[in-house]
Amino acid sequence: MTRPLTAPPVFRFAPSPNGYLHLGHALSALDGYEKAKQASGRFHLRIEDIDTARSREVYIAAIFEDLAWLGLTWEVPVLQQSQHFPRYLAMADKLTALGVLYPCFATRSEIAAAAAANPTALDPDGAPLYPGLHKHLSLEDIALRRARGEQAALRVDVEKAIALAGRKLDGQPLTFTEIDSAGLQHTLNATPQIWGDAVIVRKETPASYHLAVVADDAFQGVTHVTRGRDLFAATGLHRLLQVLLDLPEPLYSHHRLLLGPDGRKLAKSAGDTSLRDLRNSGARLSDIRRIVQLENAPNETP
Ligand code: GLU
Repeated sequence: MTRPLTAPPVFRFAPSPNGYLHLGHALSALDGYEKAKQASGRFHLRIEDIDTARSREVYIAAIFEDLAWLGLTWEVPVLQQSQHFPRYLAMADKLTALGVLYPCFATRSEIAAAAAANPTALDPDGAPLYPGLHKHLSLEDIALRRARGEQAALRVDVEKAIALAGRKLDGQPLTFTEIDSAGLQHTLNATPQIWGDAVIVRKETPASYHLAVVADDAFQGVTHVTRGRDLFAATGLHRLLQVLLDLPEPLYSHHRLLLGPDGRKLAKSAGDTSLRDLRNSGARLSDIRRIVQLENAPNETP
């Protein structure tokens, strides 16, 4: 996959429609959008709704409304991940053919019980590392469980995958390029092993965040991934998947997070004030820019 040297850079904002956008999203969306404008680049909005149980149409409609209010424009059609499951499965098939995925039939409670033996082994999100329960199931056992109708997630054998990526990179280290807030580029080591054998295809939905984001950044020709620091650790795993799937390598910028008064990051699930509530209570774009501490707020007609 080659890009013409003169092609404009491509940025994206990729919210999940499982709640109303809050100030952290405003920072993220404006950050990506303004970087795209400064670079005379293109800007995509992508709806990350693979979690069909938590995604709601009303939140998708609100995303369009809130971002338009923030002054953003984006290319159409907007990619909605729930419409692209076959494409993610094709990527998963490629990983399976490389021998780096294995099925895991274990239930959440079985995994939690096995992980309790090692309570300090946690992934960067604080979830227990997969304790390897179904890592070495025999082919007969797998066939039997499938015949019984048991559902399986597909997990990456991360050590095996790293070894394969190393061979594909001719022994060069797995890295990614981070652009800092001053615009300087840094080459950083990617450490996907901190996620353990992460889920690449979920049981209940034929994709996972990691697989879909990597597939779509490539599909949309994204050259610059801008997102919050809460996703910094995920980048190592994304780079691993990109190398295995022969996908291009974007540049990354992970912006600061906005914290609530109690020091935790803002979250829809914690009911932090939504942009629409702020707007309905009379806030203007200039207020939002001031609160999220974005400099160079443009002049705005009240
Ligand atoms: N959908 C993710 C979220 O809302 C962001 C994905 C990304 O930017 O890579 O947190």
